[in-house]
Parts: sequence; structure tokens; C-alpha cells
Amino acid sequence: MEHKKILIIGAGPGGLSSAMQLAHKGFQVDVFEKQPSPGGRTSEIKVGDFKFDVGPTFFMMKHVIDRVFGNVGRKPEDYISFVRLSPMYRLMLPDNRTIDAFEDREQMRAQLEKTFPGDGNGIDLFYERETKRYARLMPILERNNNSMRDIFRLEFFKAIPYFAIGRSLFDEMGRYFNAEFARLSFTFQSKYLGMSPWKCPGAFGLVPFIEHSEGVFHVKGGLNKISEGMARAAEEDGARFHYNTSVKKIIVKDGKAIGIQTEEGEEFFGDEVIVNADFGYAMEHLFESSDLKKYTPKKLEKKGISCSIFMLYAGMKTTYPLEHNTIVFAKDYKKNVDDVFSGNLSGDNISFYIRNTSETDPDDAPKGKSALYILVPVPNKRANINWKTEAQNVRNAVIHQIEERLGFKDFSSMIEVERVITPDEWEGEYNVYRGAVFNLAHNLGQMLWFRPHNKFEDVDNCYLVGGGTHPGSGLPTIFQSGVIAADLISKKYNK
Ligand SMILES: Cc1cc2nc3c(=O)[nH]c(=O)nc-3n(C[C@H](O)[C@H](O)[C@H](O)COP(=O)(O)OP(=O)(O)OC[C@H]3O[C@@H](n4cnc5c(N)ncnc54)[C@H](O)[C@@H]3O)c2cc1C
Repeated sequence: MEHKKILIIGAGPGGLSSAMQLAHKGFQVDVFEKQPSPGGRTSEIKVGDFKFDVGPTFFMMKHVIDRVFGNVGRKPEDYISFVRLSPMYRLMLPDNRTIDAFEDREQMRAQLEKTFPGDGNGIDLFYERETKRYARLMPILERNNNSMRDIFRLEFFKAIPYFAIGRSLFDEMGRYFNAEFARLSFTFQSKYLGMSPWKCPGAFGLVPFIEHSEGVFHVKGGLNKISEGMARAAEEDGARFHYNTSVKKIIVKDGKAIGIQTEEGEEFFGDEVIVNADFGYAMEHLFESSDLKKYTPKKLEKKGISCSIFMLYAGMKTTYPLEHNTIVFAKDYKKNVDDVFSGNLSGDNISFYIRNTSETDPDDAPKGKSALYILVPVPNKRANINWKTEAQNVRNAVIHQIEERLGFKDFSSMIEVERVITPDEWEGEYNVYRGAVFNLAHNLGQMLWFRPHNKFEDVDNCYLVGGGTHPGSGLPTIFQSGVIAADLISKKYNK
């Protein structure tokens, strides 16, 4: 049988997942990636002699990547070296108390009881109810949701109570834990979706549950090694990667995607086109708006989108006594979250996250030094912020907070090299719509059938994968978007 040709725009996690599945089934797969290497936001960044992950540092739901590799007759461990973290992370609460989060239930109970007396046993109710939520919601989330028929099955109706309609994640965790800061320890995870704990749907009690029940992993060499491993597996099955090749537009004829044109003007034609480039960016830049109906750039302006991130990658002259993952809550956390989602900067009242690999991955930095990845949630580019001037202020604020809250008084003078990424760079260099790095917001009105389908609704022979599409942002769900798109194409050609 003649090999059907699949063109994939972007070698990010979504595109790589599709490429692996389709190449293994014998499709001729060509991946066009603007960067010189795979991974997109899940790639490596080097600053001087120091190495960092650009984006993801928390790896969860390992069974999903097991499945992605298992589908193609492989084991991820042959490509990627996973490290289970214990503790998963340390939290520094607004009042400077700390609590370590453990996957082990008894260790977690002890931590809760020590920090929030009386709240330790809340962990049992958390497990009991969230296990049921997981069992009800996960099959729906992981499935293709292209049509009303796919969604509105008996399974969906049985799951309705677990969507916790009208209740926020913060409300839901209040069922298990009384102390406000105990609730924060189980709701800050809404930031993984770029949302506020007070706005994030209660259904996402799934996220802290997944952490606590399945654990959090690091990967030797950084999570970017997942992208490298996936690209290698796809190549072994015959996928061709065209790096340093930016796609300018998708060629659409009679409502069908038939090919792509690169920035250099070269054209490639295929039977199906998969778009892994960020959803909002693709709608604005890769299609003519006359080819679009549901997702014209104008309609997109009305969609809720996630917050952005300010990144400081700091190569330090020394090492610090820091856990692998440390999350520091702003002194007035609620105000900080409200600022981020109403388009304001918070001055010194910021929350931040530091990832320190000096113990887990000493090769990230020269001997005796360390590579610190510092992340600050900030407003997306719908806010009127001049990042050319504000970048230095946010950098200084987070360094000041590290010196004050963590007590590393000489931090500023210990920076050997540094690199900053602001919402401007996410938008301009990484092609992320409005710098909203966690894509379309995950409110119930933009989930499941209401999120862009993996089979694109506006253009035929075209599929969408990545964080802006169903099932949503976060590596496991993004991998799943790639699997769903690949399954739909395989079915179409009876493979
Ligand atoms: C700072 C940060 C921290 C994060 N932390 C986590 C975490 O801890 N855990 C987690 O699970 N998730 C995390 N995420 C979210 C998410 O998992 C990653 O952003 C993920 O990389 C998104 O994958 P994607 O496939 O949707 O898009 P991308 O990774 O953006 O991939 C899209 C690809 O398309 C390419 N492309 C774009 N336009 C074109 C074009 N015109 N032509 C050719 N190629 C193009 C891009 O270069 C890129 O390689 C984080 C994200 C960020 C930014």
C-alpha cells in the first residue's frame, strides 16, 4: 500500500507523540520544526557552562509515557532515565513555615499534622474522594472528544457530580483540610494550568491527587531528554525531521489542508497536516482568517487564556542547600494571584519556584557550582506591561525575595551567568499566543467538547495537538492529544 504522507508542524511534545505513533504504523511522517532541536518549551537551554530545562520540570502520570512508547513496541526507560523525587517538593508558606510534600501517605499525614495540627487525617478523605473523581473523569479526559456523541454517553452523566460545577479547586480542597495554608498546599497546582486556585474548576482536584498518588519525577539531564528520546524513537521508525525550518502557512484548498509553505518559500504536500505549533499562534499566523470559522483571530480574543511566566536561568558560582523543587508563596498570596490574573505586576509580593539540580543532576553545572531555574508567574501579554523595562524589576524582585525569604544573602553577587525569558520572548521566539504559556484557560467552558478538537473543526485533513487543544496543557495530556490525533488518522486509513 502506498505510504500516506503526514506533515507535522512543530516537534514539541504533542507533535513528537503523533510522529512516533504514525511513523510506527508506516505513514511517511515529515516534521517541520523552527528550532534546531526537538522539544519546543520542553527543550534544553544552555547559558555559559550551565544547562537548564526551558520549561517543564515536574513529570507526572508516568503511565502515559509508558503507553506512548508501549504503543510503538518500546520502553521509555531505554531512552529516558526517570528519577522519582522524595520529597516531591518543599513549600514555603506565606508565613515562612515550610512543609514537604511526599507521595507516601503516612509521611504526608505526618507533615500535615506537624504543620497544621488537626488536618493530618484530611489526607484520607482526599484519597477516598479524589480516587473516585480520577476513576470517573480520567477516561473522559483521555478520550477523543470530537463530537457531542463522544461526550454525552452514560459515563459522562455518571461523572457530572465530580466536575464540581460552580466550585473552585480551593473550595474542593476545603472539604478535606481546614487551615487555609493546608488548602494552599493542595491548590497551588492550579498554576500548572496557568490558573488561580480560586477560579480553577474543582474538577482539577485531579492534579494534586495525581501528584500524591503517582508521584513526581525528574529526568536525568532534564525533562528535555524526554523530547530527545521521543524524536529518536520516531526517527528509528522512519520519521524525518526538518529542523531550522519555520512554517509560514498551511496551504488550504477547498476547505482541506493539503500542504505547508516554509518561510523560505518551499512547499511540501501531504495527505494530512498536524499542527503542534501553539494553537492561538497557529490560528493567527498559519491560516488565512478566511479559512477559519470557529477560531478566527477575532473570536480568539474572547477566549480565556493562561497566565505567563517570567524565567530567570541563573548559573551560580556556588551550590545552595535547596531541595530539588522549592515553591515559595508570596506573603499575600491571594493578592499576588489576583494581580497575575488581572494584569498587574506585584512588586516584591511575588510567588516563585526554584529548581535546583546540584544533587540530582550535578552535570548541569561545573563542579562546585549550580544551575538554578527560577520561575515567576506573571500576567500574559493581554496586560499592558512594557517588558523591556519591567524585566529588570521582576528579576531584581525575585532575587531580593530569594535573599530575604530563603536567607541566601549573597545571592545576587553569586550569579555567574544568567538568561531571562519574559512574555515577549515566549510570544516572539517560542511562538506562544500572547505569551500564555499554558495556553487556553482550563475553565469548564473551554474543556472537553468546548476545547479545540484534535480533529480540527474549521479545516479538513487537519489535526491539532498540544496544550491548547483537547485534553489540555501539561505533558501527559499533551502526549495524549498526539495519540488521539494519530488514532483518528490511523482509523481513517484503516491502519
Ligand atoms: C516555564 C514552563 C514550565 C512548565 N512546566 C511544566 C511542568 O513542570 N510539567 C508539565 O507537565 N508541563 C509544564 N509546562 C507546560 C507544557 O507541558 C509545555 O509547555 C509543553 O512543552 C507544551 O507542549 P506543546 O507540544 O503544546 O508545545 P511546544 O512545546 O511549544 O511545541 C510546539 C513546537 O512547535 C514549534 N513551532 C511553532 N511555530 C512553528 C512554525 N511556524 N514552524 C515550525 N515549527 C513551529 C515550536 O518551536 C515548538 O517546538 C510548562 C511550560 C512552561 C513554559
